[in-house]
Amino acid sequence: MDQWDCIIVGAGPAGLSAALYLARFRRRVLVVHDGRSRALRIPVTHNVPGFPDGVEGPALVARMTRHAERYGAVVREGEVVQAAAGGPGFILTLAGSREQLRARSLVLATGLYMEQVPLDDGVHEAAIGAGILRYCPVCDGYEHIDERIGVIGSDGHGANEALFLRRFSADITLVPLNSSELDPRDRTRLQRAGIAVVDRPVIHHAPRGDCYQVQIEGDEAPLSFDVVYPALGVRQRVELAVMLGLELGEEGTTHARSPLGTDVPGLYCAGDIVEGLDQISVAMGHGALAATRAHNWLREREPPTFDTAPGVPERVKGGLDQHATGEPP
Ligand SMILES: Cc1cc2nc3c(=O)[nH]c(=O)nc-3n(C[C@H](O)[C@H](O)[C@H](O)COP(=O)(O)OP(=O)(O)OC[C@H]3O[C@@H](n4cnc5c(N)ncnc54)[C@H](O)[C@@H]3O)c2cc1C
Repeated sequence: MDQWDCIIVGAGPAGLSAALYLARFRRRVLVVHDGRSRALRIPVTHNVPGFPDGVEGPALVARMTRHAERYGAVVREGEVVQAAAGGPGFILTLAGSREQLRARSLVLATGLYMEQVPLDDGVHEAAIGAGILRYCPVCDGYEHIDERIGVIGSDGHGANEALFLRRFSADITLVPLNSSELDPRDRTRLQRAGIAVVDRPVIHHAPRGDCYQVQIEGDEAPLSFDVVYPALGVRQRVELAVMLGLELGEEGTTHARSPLGTDVPGLYCAGDIVEGLDQISVAMGHGALAATRAHNWLREREPPTFDTAPGVPERVKGGLDQHATGEPP
């Protein structure tokens, strides 16, 4: 059975960055993904450094895939349903196949699931494409300056999101999906910020042309917004991490340091699966860290070569580690 230096599960910004680095370290690297990168759903992103005119999510993923492949990374589609640490290394099983994949090291860049508003898939994705349904105020709040903004989800998370968006518009309304669970402190903060709070639940969602309507129980006419942000939470795709025995944080994420290594030797995590800010640039940085750490980990277990033999200035070897950890020399 073929043994890869590293398998990366996930072909989003985290996995593809890790693949690029490992391929350029001349590692045999395989990327496996099931076609569900969140980046593929981005109509246009305006906060990825280096793209002043914005870039479409699918175009960015295609460029990153091409970039990694140019240096020899192999990218293939498939859902990984089993992961085990076996022998030295890892064994992965794909859905609908007896084939097993083996690697000496593993990077999990499996992203997350978003809790979504109840709309048919096609309608939902069209609303995202039209920019009237958004899931990431950090990403695109700027695109909605002075617009009518609805936030769906009346709890502490929804309140925080509404308060964050207040910087961009004075016309913000917080509505519950089902029931309101705002505590008095959040209510006061919202009131002080001039954010309207509706306490009755939404009974119908209807994207209409260039606006998004929500029908509130008991109201005759729907509320109409230029954009709606559901603040309903996320679930990290940690099934494989759990199979491999990783401990999760309170929010269901892997540890903030997991791009640098985990309790499972040879296992690294990157991107949205990791505790922290769920953003493309962060995912790219994690990918670079995880790849460099994985490469060093492999080097330490290999027979001495020109780059590990005694005589190589310590500064060079140490330099790579310092860059990877961000720790002072
Ligand atoms: C509508 C929308 C707009 C956004 N706008 C922006 C923006 O403007 N700026 C920004 O910085 N961020 C934005 N984001 C967030 C951004 O998309 C994510 O932060 C980024 O994609 C995270 O990268 P990742 O590689 O960690 O995860 P993802 O890109 O989600 O990739 C996860 C990968 O793992 C694979 N995978 C998971 N489990 C398995 C498995 N078991 N087997 C095989 N493959 C598996 C998936 O197929 C996928 O390839 C937006 C997100 C959405 C949904």
